[in-house]
Amino acid sequence: MLRNTLSAKHSIKEFSFKRYNAKSRMRNVDMSNREEPLNFIEKTIQSDLDSGGFSSIRTRFPPEPNGYLHIGHAKSICLNFGLATSFSGECNLRFDDTNPEKEDGEFVRAIIDDVKWLGFQWDGEIRYASDYFLKLYEWAQHLVSVNKAYVCELDLDEIRRYRGTLTEKGTNSPYRDRSPEESLVLLERMRKGEIDEGAMTLRAKIDMGSPNINMRDPVIYRIKKLEHQRTGAEWKIYPSYDFAHGQGDALEGITHSICTLEFQANRPLYDWFIANLPVPSKPRQYEFGRLNINYLVLSKRKLKKLVDDKLVDGWDDPRMPTLRGLRRRGVSARAIRDFCDSLAIAKTDGIVDISQLEHFVRDDLNRHAYRGMCVMNPVRLSLHNYEAAKTEILDIPRHPDRLDLGLREVPFSSTIFIDRNDFTEDTSLSRKKFKRLVLGDYVRLRGGYIVKATSVDKNARGEVQQINGEIVEKTVGQAPPAGIKPRGVIHWVSEAHAVNCTIRQYDRLFSTAFPEEGNKPFVDYINPKSLVIKRNCKAEASLKNASIGEHYQFEREGYYCLDSVLSCPSDLVFNCTIGLRENPDKYK
Ligand code: ATP
Ligand code: MG
Repeated sequence: MLRNTLSAKHSIKEFSFKRYNAKSRMRNVDMSNREEPLNFIEKTIQSDLDSGGFSSIRTRFPPEPNGYLHIGHAKSICLNFGLATSFSGECNLRFDDTNPEKEDGEFVRAIIDDVKWLGFQWDGEIRYASDYFLKLYEWAQHLVSVNKAYVCELDLDEIRRYRGTLTEKGTNSPYRDRSPEESLVLLERMRKGEIDEGAMTLRAKIDMGSPNINMRDPVIYRIKKLEHQRTGAEWKIYPSYDFAHGQGDALEGITHSICTLEFQANRPLYDWFIANLPVPSKPRQYEFGRLNINYLVLSKRKLKKLVDDKLVDGWDDPRMPTLRGLRRRGVSARAIRDFCDSLAIAKTDGIVDISQLEHFVRDDLNRHAYRGMCVMNPVRLSLHNYEAAKTEILDIPRHPDRLDLGLREVPFSSTIFIDRNDFTEDTSLSRKKFKRLVLGDYVRLRGGYIVKATSVDKNARGEVQQINGEIVEKTVGQAPPAGIKPRGVIHWVSEAHAVNCTIRQYDRLFSTAFPEEGNKPFVDYINPKSLVIKRNCKAEASLKNASIGEHYQFEREGYYCLDSVLSCPSDLVFNCTIGLRENPDKYK
């Protein structure tokens, strides 16, 4: 099993599906009624509220618009919006758009759409760090004027060299003691575009001897003569992420600024800015372990590489762990939220087994997907005792346990398609081993008659071209007559009414659990069978009206949805979201 092949480093968080399902779903519940222990962030918030430190809380989700959101971001979104809901607070959506080099309005629009799709609504207007550029600039001037920042003329390489290492202290820049007056003039010239890119930076004056490298006079403004997607050519200098993030929090009245663990070492700097600037409120930063899932890569940079190198069909390729990809694949927002709610919020990083995500996807689809039949590998079954010109409409429930979803009309006629794999001429196979159609034996058609296979027609190569058989009268919705015992139930589609469709069958994008940790570049571990296209599949007539965004269970096959990009009325294309059940041997 997968687990045994993992090194200690990769100890996968144990998760009990049973335990989770037994618990009531915890979303949006009043905290006072919660049975579950609070996580460390909830405890902090609870004690802040109890002690009167805050009367209400405000959180935020702060994406950088330099790529599409992935399922790791969903954890952060669910956490931030979820905390606001649980504690009757508010949650902002803020773009930390401080780096015009990598940012794009396309990403802004997609992120807004994805957050909404996931089911969340932010408080008030959408915020942008770029809305605060003027304020941030004034605060930079303030730091300079109180001798806590200076314009430095070391280039980036020199800055790196002067910074020291983890074991060696840094060295002061020769520009560190330049007067505030001179720095103010230079800063203004930087802003006006009078200085070349790379010639000067603005640095906070903190401590070149600090054991924390982030505190060794970090660069807080860089010259970049680039247009910004929102502010155009207005600015020639841009603040660093660290100089914008906490200040944005403070301006928005964020009480609990929650981010992932890699920002832990930035917290002293976050606090330093808050302590040294005339900010209107004093947010605090808390870090939690980011979501990692085996078999997936969750880094925008690496996902971008897959897209740029055309190894996938774009950010919304159904094999991508982006929210766009998952959505196009047929994963519902509800399944993602349920999965995120099941995750531990801890102070350590860990790896979640992909089967945990798959569990929530299946669980959700099983409850909500319409049923339908689609024969992927069709062979004709001609029923000779059924009138050739006749069509019978069978009413079959859209969902076996949810009669509220109604019935679907499934036409039946004398020639139907069944799957080649559901038929064998080998009469020696036991009933237990082969619960499908065997020459000379009976099987039940899902929602329809019991039928018997009587003979086969073969082509010159000896392949079965057609199965011949007959129906057993009066067996629709009825128990089999005495002496007839169907081996099992198979799916089928009437030939005359079948809808042709293409099926895109997906498998995991990577064939190894930790593609980023092998000896080769991660892209070398792409699973060559991650997409298999099957054409000329035969779907039942009701699927002609399948709609985008709806989920279907193709009986005995898996969960499917119409592809939002490739499908059109004359050529239906379905994506396989996931198989019906986990195959634990597959990834041994
Ligand atoms: P990536 O590492 O994929 O480039 P990022 O952290 O640079 O992501 P941001 O746009 O800065 O992406 O992320 C917005 C928020 O989402 C941040 O608060 C970040 O901490 C959080 N986040 C990003 N990745 C994850 C993850 N895998 N698990 C949980 N939260 C995440
Ligand atoms: Mg980031």
